[in-house]
Amino acid sequence: MIQITMPLGFLGTVYREIRQALVDMGTMFGLLSQPEEVKDLPEAKALAVQGGEIRFDNVRFAYDPTREILKGVSFCVKPGQTLALVGHSGSGKSTIGRLLFRFYDVTGGAVTIDGQDIRSITQSSLHEAIGVVPQDTVLFNDTIRYNIGYGRANATAEQIIAAAKAARIHDFITSLPEGYDTTVGERGLKLSGGEKQRVGIARTILKNPPILILDEATSALDTQTERSIQESLREMGQGRSVITIAHRLSTIADADQILVMEAGEVLECGTHDMLLARGGRYAAMWAQQSAEEEQDAA
Ligand code: ATP
Repeated sequence: MIQITMPLGFLGTVYREIRQALVDMGTMFGLLSQPEEVKDLPEAKALAVQGGEIRFDNVRFAYDPTREILKGVSFCVKPGQTLALVGHSGSGKSTIGRLLFRFYDVTGGAVTIDGQDIRSITQSSLHEAIGVVPQDTVLFNDTIRYNIGYGRANATAEQIIAAAKAARIHDFITSLPEGYDTTVGERGLKLSGGEKQRVGIARTILKNPPILILDEATSALDTQTERSIQESLREMGQGRSVITIAHRLSTIADADQILVMEAGEVLECGTHDMLLARGGRYAAMWAQQSAEEEQDAA
């Protein structure tokens, strides 16, 4: 994750894609460098995606051998379904995203995609299959066109515009005097949090991966912007397998499955209605957030 502001156009396509994914993952998970050598096996094959079923099977993981972080986590995301991860800070939600991306290898159990252990496939094919929308999208000091087009090497102008439209940022871009040629980033036009996230969404739409990891923004976006971003994220998730790291429960009430994490374990799992009926931790978190939202609105 070094020198991420450098234009990378001269690098090969695959490297560029990996790099982009790593940049997004880095932003998402606060990682500044690839932590350890995760190597392709000599006989590693390309991932063959058949729908994008993600399975964690009794996954154990420790960053440091003296402290286990995931203590036997199991779940399955069926093709096209959405799994939301909720739980206190430090409960292991982001770690699950990092392991799916194979930033680290599990210390026990297995992570599979469509039945293929991710340790047996090439990292380039794994990273190609996964799109990451971090809370805070990294912008390069370059044009908006470049920043969106970064999702796919050799994207045509039409494809970039179509992605921007789908991410609902096209109208904003065309309202700028220089349109798609406007320079953004540190040395150019500063985009708002919501606009940056839309660039990230457009990039990912262009990449068109079967699997998505979404990190819901914790930063303050106004309610209107947040609703509209949620809508774009939901649309993008159609027909893809999605893991959402959620901070506000109201945004994930319609997820196919909600996993409540606690200290590296799955405490509860089910749909919103099932978990409310259960009257456990999720129900308590829901009651608390609803009360807080009512108070804010008053
Ligand atoms: P948050 O909601 O705050 O993002 P989280 O549920 O995503 O939290 P993780 O980021 O998965 O939690 O962290 C789980 C635990 O692992 C925490 O106790 C954290 O301190 C620890 N941890 C995370 N990254 C590292 C790392 N690179 N090295 C060592 N420990 C780490």
